[in-house]
Amino acid sequence: MGTIFDKILSGDIPSHRVYEDDLVYSFLDINPISRGHTLVIPREAKARVHELSDESCAAIGRALPRICRAVLKATGAVDYNILQNNGAPAHQAVFHVHFHIIPKFADQGLGIGWKAGSLETEDAQTLLAAMHEDLASGG
Ligand code: 5GP
Repeated sequence: MGTIFDKILSGDIPSHRVYEDDLVYSFLDINPISRGHTLVIPREAKARVHELSDESCAAIGRALPRICRAVLKATGAVDYNILQNNGAPAHQAVFHVHFHIIPKFADQGLGIGWKAGSLETEDAQTLLAAMHEDLASGG
């Protein structure tokens, strides 16, 4: 099933375009949490980052710092967050991969609840064994 970002990509609904290339599109968020809040999306219609092709991810990686520089220059912001949500419990509302660039000002920007624990050695080893096995098989 398509998302509203498919309609933005096809031009069926308008957007304030920041940047585009063959694989990437970027536009202003319609409900910014700070001035200059910008979205960066792959043209590839996948819900979550781990589902993307290497090509889409590489293109996003290439474009993201450039778009960040443009956002900073346009807004005068120095600090910013990049937010990327995967899944409804992780606050994803539009199920097409997107990266938020959110300028941080004294009174505007992303607020984060960060309940830090501590890494236990035994669990670290368990996690690493599973991750290394997956990565060794090609991810
Ligand atoms: P999520 O919670 O999925 O990470 O964020 C989705 C983002 O997409 C929200 O910040 C929301 O404001 C933005 N958004 C949703 N619909 C539209 C739209 O039609 N146009 C634009 N420009 N942004 C949208």
